[in-house]
Amino acid sequence: MFAHTCTVCSERYLIFPSQLTGVSPAEDGFVIGFECWCGAAQTEPAGRRTADHRAA
Ligand SMILES: [Zn+2]
Repeated sequence: MFAHTCTVCSERYLIFPSQLTGVSPAEDGFVIGFECWCGAAQTEPAGRRTADHRAA
């Protein structure tokens, strides 16, 4: 669960695991895909800290 400001409705919501639609690899970790409470598809970068730690 994390907080996200939607790029469509501009509201800040808590995103729950049930809203997740997928996870994609990215240069600096991965990107979480999920659906906002308004129904818009959103993404949130994540895993940077973990990726840096593992790389080191
Ligand atoms: Zn939204």
